[in-house]
Amino acid sequence: MDTLGILKELVAFDSQSGVSNKPIADYICSLLLAAGFQQNDILVTSNGPPGREKENIIARKGVGPNALMLAGHTDTVSPEPKKEWKTDPLVLTQKNSQLYGLGSTDMKAFLAAAIVTAEMFSVEQLLQPLVLVFTCDEEIGLLGAKDLKHRKLLTGIRYGIVGEPTQLVPVRLHKGYISAKVLIRGISAHSSDPKKGINAIERAVDFISDLRVYRQELNEYVNRLLSPPYPTLSIGAINGGLETNRVPSECRLKFDIRPIPGQRPDEIMADLQRLAGQKGMIENKPAVEIKFNSSPTPPMETAASSLIVRVAQQVTNKEATSVPFSTEASIFNASGIETVILGPGSIDQAHKPNEYIEARYLEQTVETLRQIVTEICCKPEWR
Ligand SMILES: [Zn+2]
Repeated sequence: MDTLGILKELVAFDSQSGVSNKPIADYICSLLLAAGFQQNDILVTSNGPPGREKENIIARKGVGPNALMLAGHTDTVSPEPKKEWKTDPLVLTQKNSQLYGLGSTDMKAFLAAAIVTAEMFSVEQLLQPLVLVFTCDEEIGLLGAKDLKHRKLLTGIRYGIVGEPTQLVPVRLHKGYISAKVLIRGISAHSSDPKKGINAIERAVDFISDLRVYRQELNEYVNRLLSPPYPTLSIGAINGGLETNRVPSECRLKFDIRPIPGQRPDEIMADLQRLAGQKGMIENKPAVEIKFNSSPTPPMETAASSLIVRVAQQVTNKEATSVPFSTEASIFNASGIETVILGPGSIDQAHKPNEYIEARYLEQTVETLRQIVTEICCKPEWR
């Protein structure tokens, strides 16, 4: 199989999170059959009505427990702003050593390399199974991976590689992600006599002060492998009030928190609800109401002593490190899979016009994955 040829085809599918990924999933299934996976060992889960299907694929080669998973998402961000693209985002275009195309780095090059690698191994060679996982809707909240976890379809997998762009440097930890919307209530009045009302903007300022005090507490957690080494809390939006002559009755905030390994999102969310609860009630409604946007992404850490970390370090000859973004690895780790993030290309090229990947990565990724699969799946010793 030809990694570049497959990448070209994958990039040609419009698989941004807003559209169905069924066309690209169908194409991947055809490649898996060509790569020696049996039809019965390819499981496709589907959500959504006809025309808007969102599919995850789990394909297994080999039998038994302790499988190694190679995982990646099939969706991309949107190509907007499209006018900034110098090439057609859906046509993989080589310029010098770079391959331009939407999703080239994030993360279709890895998908192509994973399929090509899997073809190299026969069922007989795989003493521990090799599992390829292709997810949907990663870019809009890791939804595909969360669905796989929810359906308990990740059993029997012990180790994982998530091929997000890390320039082929193994990554074993990153922060989690919690985002929240806050409604702060007041009571409107004419500004000529503000005491007749309750100023929601002034109440919001008080609540922001509380958040800043809470941030100080969060910052007592430190992990030097992360950058910055402490959890963050950042207020990203504030909105409230209409006119100078009115006391505002509502103010809204948005903020996010990125917890570090060892911190539990559910505890942080409970702390925040408590802070909000302390603000009491206004006209039978909470004075401060927090809503979390979706289920939080837990922070992820795989122990330095894990076999997958040691093998990834040995094969790449690079020390495992951290990344500043969160990935599906946190969902896989929470499902009991010891996961490393290791993929071609740089995150600097992702999520923007003129996304590209250095062509040299295609072969390098296949070779890196081939060695990892050989170490984890083809040797009986470590069991
Ligand atoms: Zn990605």
